[in-house]
Amino acid sequence: MSELRDLYQQLVLDHGKSPRNKRPMHDCGSGCCHHREGYNPLCGDKLTLHVRADGDTIDDLSFEGEGCAIFTASASMLTEVLKGRSKSEIKAILDEFLQMLTDGEKTPDPDGLGKLAVFGGVKDFPARVKCATLPWRALEAIMEASDAAAPATTE
Ligand code: ZN
Repeated sequence: MSELRDLYQQLVLDHGKSPRNKRPMHDCGSGCCHHREGYNPLCGDKLTLHVRADGDTIDDLSFEGEGCAIFTASASMLTEVLKGRSKSEIKAILDEFLQMLTDGEKTPDPDGLGKLAVFGGVKDFPARVKCATLPWRALEAIMEASDAAAPATTE
């Protein structure tokens, strides 16, 4: 596990200091973009997550907000890893990630999650779990809402 811990520190430091995709989404509101706000009162992390879909593909994700290094790294890696993936792929990763952090029995599956598996160690620090899951909970809400809003007819 110490290798994973080293990787965790590297990634959290790197993404916490220079977050990827931390920017507004300018065409948000055009109908194909969804956004969701989140707040973690335990730590003070604040988030707005933007997700733009092109058909079944999520072609852009970005976030705005301020928070601790764990939160920032989690949001940054979420946007980086999920960009360009299909909705079903994203749902699988989302489920796996949330299970890893909230299910005490679950051990991380590095193959399924890639470098996101480094967040598995956060489970040992229950006060910080919400810092890591905040962007993923926002994404979960967006995915559920966009499903509900999807047109009933198909071409
Ligand atoms: Zn935090």
